[in-house]
Amino acid sequence: MSATTLKTRIGEPDIECRYPVIIGEDRVIGQAYRWHRDWLVVTSEGEHNLRRPPKGTKGIDMAAAYLAEEYAAGRVTAVALDLVLAEAPQPLNGPVPLLHPRMPASPRNIAGAKTAFAGLTEHRWRAVLHGFPGSDNPWCLLCELCGWSGVRYWSHHRGRNGNPPSAHRHEGGCIGEDKVRALIPAYQK
Ligand SMILES: [Zn+2]
Repeated sequence: MSATTLKTRIGEPDIECRYPVIIGEDRVIGQAYRWHRDWLVVTSEGEHNLRRPPKGTKGIDMAAAYLAEEYAAGRVTAVALDLVLAEAPQPLNGPVPLLHPRMPASPRNIAGAKTAFAGLTEHRWRAVLHGFPGSDNPWCLLCELCGWSGVRYWSHHRGRNGNPPSAHRHEGGCIGEDKVRALIPAYQK
């Protein structure tokens, strides 16, 4: 990175886990997100895949440095953070498709998605934006026990060695682990 690189900061992610990369007070030069092992950026010029970060570099840092260079070179324009927040995706009330739009409808993905949705139902979660994105991609879920919604990863919801996942469902406390265990039969086996 050159000494002239603009100083950036990373804002709060939206419900698709896209991080705004901000310069100055509130100017967004792009949004960065991970899809499987790749990092992608969305700018005024559209979407661009930066691929995997080099070893030892965080993907978000790679993306922020890329965006700073693009902005400094005049290749992308900035928008106000307020506008980005106003246009952020919102949870849907209705059902979502089985698969995330980026997930090919392969037999393996369809089977994985069915397993995941069965697990969500069993554990009282609801997908509110997209279908199954894969085990290690961010997935916006709503907790049916308390109404919290946010980004989760299916790999954290599967449980380990035949055991149910942690009764600590998400940050913010939920309804308390004892009540979670009482409400969900999988914890009573
Ligand atoms: Zn909850």
